[in-house]
Amino acid sequence: MTTAMPFDQLQPMPEDWQRALAVVAHPDDLEYGCAAAVAGWTDAGREVTYVLASRGEAGIDTLEPAKCGPLREQEQRASAAVVGVAEVEFLDHRDGVIEYGPALRRDIAAAIRRHRPELVITLNHRDTWGTSVWNTPDHLAVGRATLDAAGDAGNRWIFPELAEQGLAPWDGVRWVAVSGTTSPTHAVDARPGLERSVLSLLEHRAYIEALTDEDPEQYCRGFLTANVEANAQRFGGIPAVAFEVFHR
Ligand SMILES: [Zn+2]
Repeated sequence: MTTAMPFDQLQPMPEDWQRALAVVAHPDDLEYGCAAAVAGWTDAGREVTYVLASRGEAGIDTLEPAKCGPLREQEQRASAAVVGVAEVEFLDHRDGVIEYGPALRRDIAAAIRRHRPELVITLNHRDTWGTSVWNTPDHLAVGRATLDAAGDAGNRWIFPELAEQGLAPWDGVRWVAVSGTTSPTHAVDARPGLERSVLSLLEHRAYIEALTDEDPEQYCRGFLTANVEANAQRFGGIPAVAFEVFHR
């Protein structure tokens, strides 16, 4: 009989930071994964900013992109406000065909230099969700480019045009934390922010109503609760938002 923690327990997320920048491909990417953690961080007086590579304009089958983009932008701003995030930026890459490459890395590096975060958050950059659900090319592109841009932001020679625009190098990113991967290493207690994370996801109402016939609030609560409870057994029984943390 032992009281030691099992070896596969998730570590608590680092807490000695003040600014985080979350970079994802689409409106709703943060709300499906880690908004409960964001709510807890902003409660503690930390600044969190969202950067979205696209406006998610290809996300609703029944709505053409020219109308869908502005609607989803509006929904994203509302959902960010629910968890204490005041600033949301859009990089205007084209939804569905976001390309991994220097242009995306440069845009993300520029955002990192503007906001000077210690912690960068992104979404699953790996091929699958769990073991057998194929991830989308936009998530792979943005996740990988964000991991790379954390380094690019600190190197004055990789994108010299950024310095010419007045964006000085920022080598202060200490961690990149990836939400939704199959191999998490760290976690955050989801309980204080869970209810707001439900309301935050619910702000993507047009998207959710097109996605499911279920009652939207029931759908959001069910999805997010199951998600954080699944991590509890690896975090001392506490419902948690999990991240795979890369140190820099
Ligand atoms: Zn997405």
